[in-house]
Parts: sequence; structure tokens; C-alpha cells
Amino acid sequence: MPLTVRYRRTRRTRNVLTLLCGLLPVVLGVLILHLQAERALQQHAHETATEAVRQFELMLDNTAQAARELLPLAGQPCNDVTLALREQVTRRPFVRSTNLVWDDNLYCSSLFGSFKEAVNPGDYNQGKLWLMNGNPVTPNTALLVYRLSEGRGGALTTLDGYHLSNILRLIGRQTLLLLQVGNNWLSADGKVHSGPLPALPVAQNTLNSSRYAFTVSAGFAEGETWRYMSDEYPPLFSLLMFFGVISGAIGHIVQRRSTSPSHEMLRALEAGEFIPYFQPVVHGDSKNWSGAEVLMRWKHPKEGLVRPDLFIPFAEHSGLIVPMTRSLMQQTAALLGPLSPTFTAPFHIGINITASHCQDLQLVDDCREFLDAFVPGSINLVLELTERELIEPTAITHRLFDALHALGVKIAIDDFGTGHSSLGYLRQFNVDFLKIDQSFVAMIGIDALSRHILDTIIELSAKLDLGIVAEGVETQAQCDYLTDHNVNFLQGYLFGKPMPAADFINALSHH
Ligand code: C2E
Ligand code: CA
Ligand code: CA
Repeated sequence: MPLTVRYRRTRRTRNVLTLLCGLLPVVLGVLILHLQAERALQQHAHETATEAVRQFELMLDNTAQAARELLPLAGQPCNDVTLALREQVTRRPFVRSTNLVWDDNLYCSSLFGSFKEAVNPGDYNQGKLWLMNGNPVTPNTALLVYRLSEGRGGALTTLDGYHLSNILRLIGRQTLLLLQVGNNWLSADGKVHSGPLPALPVAQNTLNSSRYAFTVSAGFAEGETWRYMSDEYPPLFSLLMFFGVISGAIGHIVQRRSTSPSHEMLRALEAGEFIPYFQPVVHGDSKNWSGAEVLMRWKHPKEGLVRPDLFIPFAEHSGLIVPMTRSLMQQTAALLGPLSPTFTAPFHIGINITASHCQDLQLVDDCREFLDAFVPGSINLVLELTERELIEPTAITHRLFDALHALGVKIAIDDFGTGHSSLGYLRQFNVDFLKIDQSFVAMIGIDALSRHILDTIIELSAKLDLGIVAEGVETQAQCDYLTDHNVNFLQGYLFGKPMPAADFINALSHH
């Protein structure tokens, strides 16, 4: 049935909406925390890079000062200056060795005294700094050489890479920190690499020293933002989960309390809350049960039994009346079908139908399915169409009523006398019964005009050869009057109120 599919989709949509309500604050909160964590890491990386630059500059100040003091000695014989070279090494904490240069030749070293090695100024970044991967004395050990030159003379002072990598490790304990000089760079493990600086995955900050020719890059490893969040924000995560649950619950409640009656009815239909009640219809002469009218009740889980006039208008408005009536017919067929072998004469079963049910031929299938549940000929299915809501005579409705008649389905005009159906209308739709509205029956013995209308309707139905049913018979006086006027069928509290299926089936066996 299309309705079932539609409803399932709706319920799924409701669950999805509840989930979205719950997820929304969590997702938004996590996004905000993520942004916050990124900002915190950016700031952290920036502070780390700034501090590293400051430390390296302090060390280089120390190294540069040694070079400045030695530069005036360049060109003097090595033997005369070796002591001065060694003195700088001893006095200055970060200076590992000192050397003097003349005409781009290193000729005197604090380590070896007299020495000979060509100096290539091109090796030095901006002619000043060279990050080497060791020298013949300490191969594979980082070394930063500071070069100061003036005219033909020059001084080279070296800074041990151990101090540099120590800074990278200590300052950047949670940070990846790299020192770049020209084409070479140093990592925290003390290794010198060639080539461009690698990109750091998270919050990379690159700072140039304004005083020396080096660059520091700080950042974090992949996934650091989430790691940071899980370390720093667990209480906020709990709070977000709490908000998520609250928001999901609110979403769920709001949807359940959805004020849309059609939504609530759709739920009720799926839950099988619309059930048939049966009111007996008796023969005018014998007062034996001739059939029953099926009346819908809503067995609401909270409100109890709801009268149809309180919800049928909404059901008509939303179009739900069609599947609701279909469900009512299926339930009726399932309840009464098995009893049909015991019916001695055709039992009338009246079903109330609205105009919206007559807009396509689906009703024919519904009736066929209904009749199939009974022993052939054991019932008369009577569709009751209220006079207040006239059906437009169109090609479709004509085909519909022809098909219904071909199936043996009878048509009754309900609440007759309250609307304005013409004789032509009664003929057009091949009506079988008129149901006199209970307001006329109630006026028997009270109001002369109403009684006059009642008499006219009874006369009219006799002339048109239509069966006639009087509704709302409550008193013996009303019953007697109608019987005297040869009304074929009577229905009202005098004979039986609408009752649940079990009571009706029980009573049926006595009638
Ligand atoms: P209706 O088709 O005119 O049904 C007769 C109504 O009169 C029923 O009200 C019935 O309980 C009530 N009634 C019967 N005998 C007496 C009596 O002696 N005295 C009084 N005062 N009332 C009596 P109910 O069951 O509340 O239904 C009200 C209306 O709701 C129905 O009027 C019908 O128009 C509509 N309805 C009920 N079930 C369905 C349904 O399955 N489909 C549609 N489309 N409409 C339905
Ligand atoms: Ca009716
Ligand atoms: Ca009626």
C-alpha cells in the first residue's frame, strides 16, 4: 500500500531530524573547538619560532663578538695570534673554534694553529653563515660557521651544532622546529639536511631573523589539532554531548507533539488506532437485524475513544480519509467475513464514503477486495455518501458508479434532507437508499414542519422506488410512526448503539 511506504519514509525522516537536532550542537561545537585549537596551535607555533629566533640570535651574538675581536688580527703571523684565538674559545660559551683568513685562505686555527684551507665565500648564506654537516675533526656533527671579513682579512668563528639542536629540542618540545641557513637545514635530532624546508602539516610558522641570515620554522605533526583537542577539551566535549542529547530530545519531543493533526493521524493509522464500531440497522416491520453501519472510532492512546466528527474533517482535508476508510473496510472484512456463511439473508453493511474517495477508480478495487472476503451473495455492501457533500458528475464518477453497480455495490444518500440533491442527481448516480437525517426523526411529534418534510421524503423514496432508512430512532413513538409509514429500515439507540466488534459479533449471534 503506498501509504505504508509513505509513512515509513516519514518516520525515517523524523528519526533523521531527531538525529540532526542532536548532532547539530555537537558538530557546531566540535567545529568551533577545532577552530579554537587551530588558533591556539598557530599562536603556540609563532611563540616557539619567536623564542627560537631569539635564542639563536643570542648565541650568534656571542659568536659574532668573538669574530669582531679577532678580525683586526687577520694577516698577522699565526704563531703570534694562536693564543688570542684560543682565548676566545675559552672565554665564550658557544664558540667552539676560531680561525683567521687572509685572501680567502684559512691560515690559522684555534684547533691546529697554522693551517691551510681555501675559503669559498659562496658557501656562506649572504656571505655570513654556513650550516655545515661537520668538519674533518668532527664529521657528521652540525656546525654553524660565522664569517666576518673586511678587505683581505677575515675571521671565522664556529658554533657547535649541539647547542643549536638542543635549542630546537628544548623550545619545541611539543613543536616541530627547524633551523634553516641558506640551502641547509637542521632538525632537532642534530642532523643537517640539504634542500628546501619540508612543509609542516599543522600551523606552520616561518620566521626570518632580522639580524642574521637564518630562518626558523615551527609547526606540528599531522593530526595534532585533534590530539590537542582531546588533551585540552574533554570537559567541553562532555558538555557538547550533553547539549546534543538535550537538543535531540527536544527535537524528538517537538516532532512528537507536532500540532499537525494529519501528522498525528498518519501515526495513528500506522498504529492501527482507527477501528470500526458497528451500529445495527433493523427491518422496519420485524425489527430483526438487517445489517449494520460501520462507524469509525479513534482509539487514542492518551485521549481514549475519539468521536469521528472530531477528526474526520481533518482526515478529509489531508486526504488521509481514503487510506483510513480502506483500513476500516479491511478490518470489517476480516471481522465479519468469517461469519458470512451463517448469514441467512443478505446482510447490509454500510460504509461511510466521502467525495474525495470517488475521484478515482481505486474505490472499485477496495470494494472488490471487501466483497471477496464474504461468501458470495451473503452481504449487501452499501456506500453511504452524505448529501452535504455532493459529488461532481464527471466522466470518472460515472465510470466509478457504473463499475460499483456492476459489482453489486449499493449507494445510499446519507443525511438526506439536509442538503439539496435534486431528483436528477438521485437518478444520475443510480442511488439505492435514502437515509433520512436524524434531525427529522427527532422532531416526530414535536415539530409539524419537520414531520411534513419527513412525510415528503418517505413519499418521494416510494415513488422513486428507493429503499429508505431512518436514522436516530430513540423512542418507541418515533419507531411506531416510521413503521406506520412503511419505512423499510430503522437505525438508532432504541435498537442498539454503535458498539465494538466483539460486542457486535456477540449480539449478532442472538439476532
Ligand atoms: P452518520 O453517518 O450520520 O452516522 C450516524 C451518527 O449518528 C453516528 O455518529 C451514530 O453514532 C449517531 N447515532 C446513531 N443512532 C443515534 C441515535 O439514536 N441518537 C443519536 N443522537 N445519534 C445516533 P458517530 O458515530 O459519532 O458519527 C458521526 C459522523 O461521522 C457520521 O454520521 C459520519 O458522517 C461520520 N463518520 C463516521 N464514521 C465514518 C467513516 O468511517 N467515514 C466517514 N467518511 N465518515 C464517518
Ligand atoms: Ca452514515
Ligand atoms: Ca446520517
